[in-house]
Order: sequence, then structure tokens, then C-alpha cells
Amino acid sequence: MAACVQCKSFFPIPENADDFAEGKGDCVREVKDEKGKYWLSKPVMGDMETSKCPFFAEKV
Ligand code: SF4
Repeated sequence: MAACVQCKSFFPIPENADDFAEGKGDCVREVKDEKGKYWLSKPVMGDMETSKCPFFAEKV
């Protein structure tokens, strides 16, 4: 089963960042609507199951 860490939207939090935690990252996705493109960001854990996420896309 895939985990967030394998997703191209997953960016690990650097060790020197205030909100660093082992395995933690940001899920950053580009979204488009009628006004244009923007980015959505939310904290996620790298080992989170992706089976319920419709946005999972494997890193290449
Ligand atoms: S929440 Fe979804 S889009 Fe975000 S990193 Fe995990 S699988 Fe990817």
C-alpha cells in the first residue's frame, strides 16, 4: 500500500525548521480554477495511507 512519502506532492520538512518532526512533511498541490492557478499546502505524515486520497501521484 502506498504512503504519502511516495507521492510527488510530499515535501519533507527540513530538520532545522520550527515544525520539524520525524517523518513529517507538507502536502503541496497545484490547483486550477476559473481564476487561475494556486497552491494548497497542508501538513501530513509520510507514513499516512494514500488509499483514501484522490490526489495521490507516485514520484518518478
Ligand atoms: S495527502 Fe494525498 S496528495 Fe498529499 S501527499 Fe498524501 S497522497 Fe499525496
